[in-house]
Amino acid sequence: GLQGQVAIVTGSTSGIGHAMADALAAQGVNIVLNGLGEMTAIEKTRAALAEKHGVEVLYNGADMTKPGQIAEMVAAAKAEFGELDILVNNAGVQHVAPIEDFPVDQWDLIIAINLSSAFHATRAAVPIMKEQGRGRIVNIASAHGLVASPFKSAYVAAKHGILGLTKTVALETATFGITCNAICPGFVKTPLVEAQIVDQAKARGISEEAVMKDVILAAQPTKQFVTFDQLNGMLLYLVSDAGASANGAAFSIDGGWTAQ
Ligand code: NAD
Repeated sequence: GLQGQVAIVTGSTSGIGHAMADALAAQGVNIVLNGLGEMTAIEKTRAALAEKHGVEVLYNGADMTKPGQIAEMVAAAKAEFGELDILVNNAGVQHVAPIEDFPVDQWDLIIAINLSSAFHATRAAVPIMKEQGRGRIVNIASAHGLVASPFKSAYVAAKHGILGLTKTVALETATFGITCNAICPGFVKTPLVEAQIVDQAKARGISEEAVMKDVILAAQPTKQFVTFDQLNGMLLYLVSDAGASANGAAFSIDGGWTAQ
């Protein structure tokens, strides 16, 4: 089982990452929590996770735009817990704008957080996992790793990129008891998506209600948001022993979005 294993979940102070940290902790996994936020709120989240599941939860505030801080976070997990079994590269941000107006600093930020941070964390984690002969790397990509939508050039480029990174790492580590896979969620109702509703309304010049109905739910044939539990089911499979032959793959959990 997963009892006593150690996981880093990047961007786990909110949304999908927080739900994944919770699901892993429920299996007895010790957690390195990471992400931005207000320190008292983060400490509350950290203590609540530890208390609820009786596991150790450490917070590491590594900024996913800073390669040195990412490497230090991975080293700190190994130093504190003596092992690193699971790495979930989840931190992500979004910006919505037409290509000709897309702010250059937003492009750089999205590529850094949504793509390069996974490279830096994986680069630091693989030697530890190779030495252990065991490891699970799960990259949270998106339906936008497989298909595009207008006005999301940086996000779509980063998410397509992370699927390439996933495949490459899978090939390099396959004989070491390590797997590397991607989960490609459709729309999940998190703060990231709630912010997009506002931004999309501006970019398209339509109301927020119209964005929900005609943009977000239009893409998802089920007309339902994907839930945290539905994503966690895939995560727990991928990190389990049963998941050992799932490698280098992209698993769509998108209500049929990319079947179209
Ligand atoms: P969210 O905004 O709720 O959470 C994002 C997390 O990343 C937060 O903890 C935030 O603090 C952290 N983060 C942002 N910038 C950071 C930085 N510089 N350093 C460290 N941490 C940072 O968003 P979410 O919807 O839960 O998204 C999580 C992941 O899932 C992202 O990679 C996103 O692209 C992906 N995803 C989300 C959806 C969706 O519909 N919500 C769909 C597909 C994929």
